[in-house]
Amino acid sequence: MKEKTEIEKLREELAYNPKNGSVTLTADELRRADEFCEEYKDFLNNGKTEREIVAESVKLAEIAGFKPFEKGKVYQPGEKVYRVNRGKSILLAIIGSKPISEGVRLAIAHIDSPRLDLKPNPLYESDELAFFKTHYYGGIKKYQWTTIPLAMHGVIFLKNGEKLEVRIGEEDDDPQFCISDILPHLGTEQAKKPLGTAIPAENLNILVGSRQIADEKGNDLVKLNVLKLLHEKYGIVEADFLSAEVEFVPADKARDVGFDRSMIGAYGHDDSVCAYPALMAALTCNNPGHTAVTVLTDKEEIGSEGNTGLNSSYMKYFIYDLADMQGVKGRDVLTASQCLSADVNAAYDPNYADCFEKRNSCYLNKGVCITKYTGSRGKGGTSDASAEYMSRVRSLLDRKHVLWQIGELGKVDVGGGGTVAKYVAALDVDTVDMGVPVLSMHAPWEIVAKIDVYMAYRAFYEFFLD
Ligand code: MN
Ligand code: MN
Repeated sequence: MKEKTEIEKLREELAYNPKNGSVTLTADELRRADEFCEEYKDFLNNGKTEREIVAESVKLAEIAGFKPFEKGKVYQPGEKVYRVNRGKSILLAIIGSKPISEGVRLAIAHIDSPRLDLKPNPLYESDELAFFKTHYYGGIKKYQWTTIPLAMHGVIFLKNGEKLEVRIGEEDDDPQFCISDILPHLGTEQAKKPLGTAIPAENLNILVGSRQIADEKGNDLVKLNVLKLLHEKYGIVEADFLSAEVEFVPADKARDVGFDRSMIGAYGHDDSVCAYPALMAALTCNNPGHTAVTVLTDKEEIGSEGNTGLNSSYMKYFIYDLADMQGVKGRDVLTASQCLSADVNAAYDPNYADCFEKRNSCYLNKGVCITKYTGSRGKGGTSDASAEYMSRVRSLLDRKHVLWQIGELGKVDVGGGGTVAKYVAALDVDTVDMGVPVLSMHAPWEIVAKIDVYMAYRAFYEFFLD
């Protein structure tokens, strides 16, 4: 290797120049990143909705020695507990060796992703085709959800109260579902419309059948055939949909992307790509000093509302219960606590360079991204992490050789977004957003780089043990 010039040395010493991990990581680190992502792909395929991800997380946690948290019981340092909130969010804790009055270390990711929910009364027939009406959930570009294979996930309660868990379209011999679109030959008028209005939400109707029940006169014979099949297979009647939670998601499995297999394409990276590393950090972190808490929460994509979203008190109550165990005030624990709000950021996309400000964007393969603030129109609606806390997190990552970068969500005037960080900060907890850069965020198939996924895990893990 040739000797560095003075200028090169100065540049290295003085200038911020985030490194591309594919060049700077050792072969061993790259191998570990690839191995970590093999299990991440399984996690993606096993859970596409918040309920499925909670169930999968419980399974993995129990294998790792976690037990359901019993309020009032006194746990010893090193003990591992979890609490499930209504089947849609989960909290996991490893009791620390330090008194809980010194605060807990929180990693919080969300496990709901943009998708198509069924309307309460979804099934109808139109011109001898049967459809489900949908109401989309979260921020989607509606045109992306037509003409792709969809799978049906959810829970349906029968009239007698029996709960059915449904998952159709993921196995090789399952049927799948689809939303049709007009052919280009007849799409002249549609093509003139802006992308945001070309596909109205009421056109997001899922094709679910086309054969009539019998050669008879009468209305809705295709719909009736669908109802008959559903009843035969599941015992469902039409009114059972009124109380159901049914979600249609892309039916694809997670796959490697690129000749170099450096990336993963999948549905639900936002935010499984942070949820899985945060979960694995909890599952692999033994005997932390501070009590380590991972929270996988619901409803982030629609504003963290409801009793399973982070704007509710469920996380606060869990911390209070941990505090009670040591006779400490819950609010004092929160005030002393620190949090990584684990959520994705938009990776710089050269195809849409106009939307990004290059110097403050995050990039694939440059490691886990710290986002000091989110928000829109002048930091509106964000928790802006303090310089003190930024400095602490930054020096931790450097000390532990975790590849990381800084990132804002695009150019200031082009839009914006938010995360759960502000709800955590509202509890008087030091919080900053940290997560994985994603290409095509909120699309049915999102892209991440394996190096960044692994660095997210390493960041949460080191944070728990620091
Ligand atoms: Mn997110
Ligand atoms: Mn999102």
